[in-house]
Amino acid sequence: MNFLETFNQFYNSAVKHLEIPDGLSAQIQSCDSVYHLRFPITLDNGQIEVIEAWHGEHSHHMSPLKGGIRFSSVVNEDEVRALASLMTFKCALVNVPFGGGKGGIKIDSKNYSLDELEKITRRYTYELHSRNSLGPNTYVPATDYGTTSREMSWIYSTFKTLSNSNIDSAAAVTSKNITQGGVKGRKEATGRGVFIGLRELLSDKKEMAKIGLKAGLKNKKVVVQGFGNVGYHAALFLNKAGAKIIGICEYDGSIYNSKGLDPDKVKSHLKSGNSIVEFKDCESFDDPYHVFYEECDILVPAALEEVINESNMYKLKAKIIAEGANGPITFEADQYLSKNNVVILPDLYLNSGGVIVSYFEWLKNLNHVRWGRIENNGNSEMKEVDLINNALNETMCQAFDEIKAKRNDANSQISYREAAYKIGIEKIANTYIEMGIFP
Ligand code: NAD
Repeated sequence: MNFLETFNQFYNSAVKHLEIPDGLSAQIQSCDSVYHLRFPITLDNGQIEVIEAWHGEHSHHMSPLKGGIRFSSVVNEDEVRALASLMTFKCALVNVPFGGGKGGIKIDSKNYSLDELEKITRRYTYELHSRNSLGPNTYVPATDYGTTSREMSWIYSTFKTLSNSNIDSAAAVTSKNITQGGVKGRKEATGRGVFIGLRELLSDKKEMAKIGLKAGLKNKKVVVQGFGNVGYHAALFLNKAGAKIIGICEYDGSIYNSKGLDPDKVKSHLKSGNSIVEFKDCESFDDPYHVFYEECDILVPAALEEVINESNMYKLKAKIIAEGANGPITFEADQYLSKNNVVILPDLYLNSGGVIVSYFEWLKNLNHVRWGRIENNGNSEMKEVDLINNALNETMCQAFDEIKAKRNDANSQISYREAAYKIGIEKIANTYIEMGIFP
């Protein structure tokens, strides 16, 4: 089973009871196009290496397309198709007017120097630009696994050069550094969104009683897998709201402390280049999955896909699984866990904070003015981040209410995932029907 098959299974089970013509459903489900690219770069030692990469465009029912670019040694075409597909439904669910896209470059960034990473990023940008597949009105990438605002700023400056200093160049990519037109709050946005979704879920006394939990985040025991952009920020906001981060899993080991770990201390330890297992004041294990199976209230997978599957679904002891990562649970594992009363907050809702704030960044770049500058007579430096965080909160709460309403329509018999997919599919179908794509 790969991630694309998993996506198709989730899609098929959600669309089954919707009244959408088969042909339209096939169009909504399928990925419009994928480029498989190969390009050479010269390494620092003078040798030439051919880099393999993909660019996926899932749906053009809205423009531009939006979706991150990942650097990963295991990325492949099906994964890019699945990730691009998920983006389409995510954007529809949270009312962000984009189609879904995705990029993947098959490298492990740890094996390349800064200069080499810059060459790879700029060359990939050139490849997309030369195919008319990058720009404020075509495809607007952002950060994803293995990339940061640094790579996005390289993409921006390359695009700007290639497009003759197009006045809207900054809107060709989001999650940029602030000096390049990025917005305050984007770096934290996905993790903040994970926190907002969990806060909303846990405030529902009735739902929590069903799984034997008290309402509220206070003292909830949390395990996080992947302490990168999404995992760290999710842990930070959950911790601030009173939850205890009892476990963290990284690629080279896992750590546990029943009294709680300080997310900032762990982050600065990792930033200095140390292994997670060298962190003090906790139990540590060479097995990255040791802590993953610990008893906890909330498990946040925030690394890669399919980490919860048929081989390990029996071992999980979490009551709630919060999908920070895209596609961390396979279809079979999802069915099994749901039957066993585990509440799953799905990726297409829970990690949408990134694309929501990217939408605000794109709007800011097209408007050529900082949020709040005009409304507030230009005298508040803090205004932009407050506006953005409030709008993110509002958007995610509204989407959560829509998901809840959909579940209630179905007598709460359907999962949060099925409800989220159904909402996304219906909105996309309506767009197609109203556009008259199928005369
Ligand atoms: P990241 O590169 O910042 O962090 C990923 C972390 O996972 C790294 O610290 C890495 O060492 C760790 N990791 C790798 N393999 C692991 C393993 N086997 N076990 C435990 N940890 C492991 O990436 P990110 O941006 O935080 O993205 C993580 C996930 O969230 C991806 O699925 C991505 O698609 C999704 N996502 C990211 C964003 C975003 O805005 N960055 C938005 C939506 C979804």
